[in-house]
Amino acid sequence: MIEENLDEIKHKIESSAIRSGRTLQDIMLICVTKYSDVDQIKTIVDLGQINLGENRIKDALEKVKQLKNDICWHMIGHLQTNKAKDAVSFSEWIHSVDSVKIANAIDKEAKKIGKVQKILIEVNVAKEASKHGFLVDDLARSFDEIVKLKNIEIKGFMTIAPVCSPEQTRPFFKELRQLKEKFSVEHLSMGMSQDYEVAIEEGATMVRVGSAIFR
Ligand SMILES: *Cc1c(COP(=O)(O)O)cnc(C)c1O
Repeated sequence: MIEENLDEIKHKIESSAIRSGRTLQDIMLICVTKYSDVDQIKTIVDLGQINLGENRIKDALEKVKQLKNDICWHMIGHLQTNKAKDAVSFSEWIHSVDSVKIANAIDKEAKKIGKVQKILIEVNVAKEASKHGFLVDDLARSFDEIVKLKNIEIKGFMTIAPVCSPEQTRPFFKELRQLKEKFSVEHLSMGMSQDYEVAIEEGATMVRVGSAIFR
């Protein structure tokens, strides 16, 4: 089933990419493995998917240990500062930088191991109380502080859209796209199983898809 799901998703990614003047290769599919066991993960890796996303450090460390090194790990969940060290140890990308404090902690840990950590800044575009991320109004000041950190490279913005119909998510993705242009960053991590097609139409360069693959 995983193989069929993946084929269907890749097909839909391609169609959405074409609708936004791009190709399949322009979109990074991050397979979110938080629901999956190691055998399922091996199946998708064997199918050529090397970008994997986890939202909890403890689960991620367990899986990193059991899988080969040729995987590109993405940390996509909220991080406590005392988990920065672990996150930096295995993550190629950290998508969930939602405070200046966590950015500082990541920078400090990256410096210790001589790494420049690729990060995305999480934006709470829809101003949901239940979500992490910077509010759009606070973004500029915090961006200026984070951009000064030497062992962090800001690669773009990430958002999680509210739970609603895909079409209703479109304005939030549009707004993140405008921020990308305003701040001249390269990547937009937006779109999950329910709404990745709309996100790509609105300019996503990375989509984080879990349940649609492993269902
Ligand atoms: C779980 C999760 C996803 C994937 O969600 P699905 O709806 O299962 O595709 C994407 N992004 C984040 C931050 C997540 O925690």
